[in-house]
Amino acid sequence: MNNRKVRVRFAPSPTGGLHLGGVRTVLYNYLFARHHGGDFILRIEDTDQSRFVPGAEEYIMQCLEWCGITPDESPLKPGPYAPYRQSERKPLYRQYAEQLVQQGNAYIAFDTAEELEAMREQYKTEHHSAQYDSRTRGFMRNSLTLPDAEVQSLLEQGTPHVIRIKMQAGENLVFTDMIRGAVSFDTGLVDDKVLLKADGMPTYHLAVVVDDYLMKITHAFRGEEWLPSAPVHLLLWKYLGWEAEMPQWAHLPLILKPDGNGKLSKRDGDRLGFPVFAMDWTDPRTNEQTTGFRERGFLPEAFTNMLAMLGWNSGLEQEIFSMEELIQHFSIDRVHKGGAKFDYEKAKWFNQQYIQKTDNARLAELLQPFLSGKATIGNEQLKTVIGLVKDRMHLLSEFWDQASYFFVRPETIDTAALQAKWNDNTRNFFVALAEKYSSLAEWTSASIEAAFNGLVTETGIKKGEVMLPLRIMLVGGKFGPGVFDIAALIGSHETKERIGGALARLQ
Ligand code: GLU
Repeated sequence: MNNRKVRVRFAPSPTGGLHLGGVRTVLYNYLFARHHGGDFILRIEDTDQSRFVPGAEEYIMQCLEWCGITPDESPLKPGPYAPYRQSERKPLYRQYAEQLVQQGNAYIAFDTAEELEAMREQYKTEHHSAQYDSRTRGFMRNSLTLPDAEVQSLLEQGTPHVIRIKMQAGENLVFTDMIRGAVSFDTGLVDDKVLLKADGMPTYHLAVVVDDYLMKITHAFRGEEWLPSAPVHLLLWKYLGWEAEMPQWAHLPLILKPDGNGKLSKRDGDRLGFPVFAMDWTDPRTNEQTTGFRERGFLPEAFTNMLAMLGWNSGLEQEIFSMEELIQHFSIDRVHKGGAKFDYEKAKWFNQQYIQKTDNARLAELLQPFLSGKATIGNEQLKTVIGLVKDRMHLLSEFWDQASYFFVRPETIDTAALQAKWNDNTRNFFVALAEKYSSLAEWTSASIEAAFNGLVTETGIKKGEVMLPLRIMLVGGKFGPGVFDIAALIGSHETKERIGGALARLQ
């Protein structure tokens, strides 16, 4: 086991948008693989045709690409264990299900949906719903209860059937989880999960074991919600005779709601106003749209850094880690057992840190989707403005609100705030200022400021009385970076126009 090359996999089912918990699972798999010089595989688990959603697979791949996580093997980059979509591997699974039936570890079941429903009604108790298991299977229509000849004839007639694992009551199964340590299960409490469905497709339980074996997976990290299925998988590894090659498992803790009360869901995001999916997702069945971190204005490296810290700590003081540093420091035994509360403010803090340290040229590129249809902006001008406002931004989507006045005249200006300081002296000052600016030989932040200060001295007005009005005239309100920098960028004509416009309004 120890000298096998590390191979891990992310195995999503293409059923919808990618939850940030899913991205964290990808990330931990990826960091672990890279840390150990191993392979990271993307396998699409699409055997449940009823849950298949068109477009979801492409969406998942785009999310990985956006996050900068490149699989070594995937449906798009098939390696030696192709295909990497379970639906395309369908013919492969039946033999293993049949082997299990022959060994007596699984059985064929013919029960109809109505019969299953009737069983659940009949055997439920006040506190427990009934399941198909060691207690109830003896009352059902399966190859354990029916005579061989009848089973044979039902099969020959093409009667719909499934293959179920036969869980043994009274066995205590133990395995070592890399995060939780020893975990034990009472097999009698686990139901006889379907392994092969009536349509010939394997269920997740059979497919995950067969594929992890055939693809030589050495470590399997997945969400905590899969822990109850672990005994079924453990037994399958054992019954199929592959126990020595079983991957080491780690069940990752949940990402919790901000108040710590249960798993963070898409609905919490809608309710509390933050994204939960990696990227925008439109459900093709309902057209329902869900915002993603990308479209909300996160940088992918901020998003992955934030996710890495949600459930793992490096043991260092540092919080900002590049992907390379995460790879270097990541270890699975520093992943916490308990759930991690999601904190949107903290997520925005990470993003702000990255906006500040990312160079303006790259930010200009990342900002393009947020500027489309708003104004035509030259790249040099955009980079300069980014430099002026980036330390005020938490999200790329805030750029336009922070900086639109550099490119278009403000639609509204805070006249109330202007009027508060307005009198004949201020009016005269701005009339003179506009004139002074008309004859300025050079238009730079320094010369604009010098002209302004000169006029303050000449007129004897208090500087404090005219600084804020100038800002409001140029940007519309009491915000923005240095006012002379703004004037320099918008140009002398536009500066005079804005001063003139405000004077007219205050008439
Ligand atoms: N297909 C499962 C899911 O979507 C994968 C679980 C696993 O990694 O074993 O969660």
